[in-house]
Amino acid sequence: MSTEPRTYDAQALWQKDKDHFIHPFTDYSLFHEKGCDLITESDGIYVEDVHGNRFIDGIAGLWCVNVGHGRAEIGQAMADQATRMAYFSTFNNLSNAPAAELAAKLAELAPAHLNHVFYSCGGSAANDATIRLVHYYFNRLGKPNKKRILSRNNAYHGTTYLSASLTGIASNNWEFDTLDHLVTHLSEANCYRRPEGMSEADYCDHLVKEFEDTVADIGADNIAAFIAEPIMGAGGVLMAPQGYHARIQAVCRANDILFIADEVVTGFGRLGHFFASEAVFDTQPDIINCAKGLSSGYAPLGATLISDELFEVLGTPQGKGGVLSTGFTYSGHPVSCAAALKNIEILEHEAICENVREVGPYLEQKLKTLADHETVGDVRGSHFMLAIENVADKATKALLPVEARVGDRVAAEAQKRGLIIRPVGHLNIISPPLIWDRDTVDRVVAILDEAFAATTASLR
Ligand code: PLP
Repeated sequence: MSTEPRTYDAQALWQKDKDHFIHPFTDYSLFHEKGCDLITESDGIYVEDVHGNRFIDGIAGLWCVNVGHGRAEIGQAMADQATRMAYFSTFNNLSNAPAAELAAKLAELAPAHLNHVFYSCGGSAANDATIRLVHYYFNRLGKPNKKRILSRNNAYHGTTYLSASLTGIASNNWEFDTLDHLVTHLSEANCYRRPEGMSEADYCDHLVKEFEDTVADIGADNIAAFIAEPIMGAGGVLMAPQGYHARIQAVCRANDILFIADEVVTGFGRLGHFFASEAVFDTQPDIINCAKGLSSGYAPLGATLISDELFEVLGTPQGKGGVLSTGFTYSGHPVSCAAALKNIEILEHEAICENVREVGPYLEQKLKTLADHETVGDVRGSHFMLAIENVADKATKALLPVEARVGDRVAAEAQKRGLIIRPVGHLNIISPPLIWDRDTVDRVVAILDEAFAATTASLR
């Protein structure tokens, strides 16, 4: 925790919050009645609320505080940069030291052919900027019809207009408009809910066939790219069948369709590697997008990592005086880039990916012991990216009624016992800081055991 004790007037803060702060992804039918938890302090694997209640952080803030909370070195690096030179443009041949250093570091960490970095301020903006760059790329190649982006049901790619359109979680876009002429959604890859009686290998064939059929229907000449998370995160930590990503990439290659990996969650260690695409899923994307763990959430930052082949086109001016006319005031923000550089230094020096590779399988194995609880239908995911799906009936996989708010119940029971996990409908997501050790896993699973028992009892 910070060394400076600070006191807050919790009631006054709640009043200000309630009256003026429009919270993202918040149920306003319950907000005023339930209030909100003001998180005011943090340290390592813990956060503390305004009343001094301490919790184990089971969601790394929001899949992002990978190196853990309260890292003074990152705060110091940001303060040094902010006082030396907080901001200056990166347009028109201007640059700054952290942005240049970070771009080179990302090129070193990424698969060998990804050597060029376009900065943004987060994951949604990175995906949005990527699609604009992809369209521009094909326009420059004289293929202006290649516009359609293939995405998947239950994918989460953000909430700018374009990234929300890529997102395939239906409830996220209720009553919002989407750019449907640009995006086609295919089936999600979800081993748990694959068609009854189908083997994993047959399921993979089935999804690849659907992909091939869609390409044939729309026409490869009209399709620019396929975008996919290696493991679908916010959509429910959905696991694809073995070999799925590599086979889809092969179809993309054969049809001149770019393969974009959205590694906003999986990047920077969550699956035990800086990037999961090549190391875990045997793919060589044309573009990898990252954010979140890139700065461990200490400062807003997103990055689009672009292949040499694409950059050859993007980096060629369109006639005399032409510039690559896209970017943000805060592209390559020096303070965010300084935070990311220090974050990466910590990830490397403290062998945090190695910790994930060591503790991750233990976490998976221990969480699976919860499968005996009445509502637990599936425990899935990989390493530090996990979810528990609650059901009414394990055999049929039927869900509990929405009004039961089962995910909320489990999360509330866990929180009462000192652990924050994330409820998403009937799911509970666990995506901790990457510094959990085996002892923490044991404590967390003991809390969850009680939380699921209490939830089952409350549903009777
Ligand atoms: N892509 C993925 C896979 C994500 O999980 C998220 C956010 O959770 C985003 C994109 C959007 O990132 P941001 O919220 O930083 O805009």
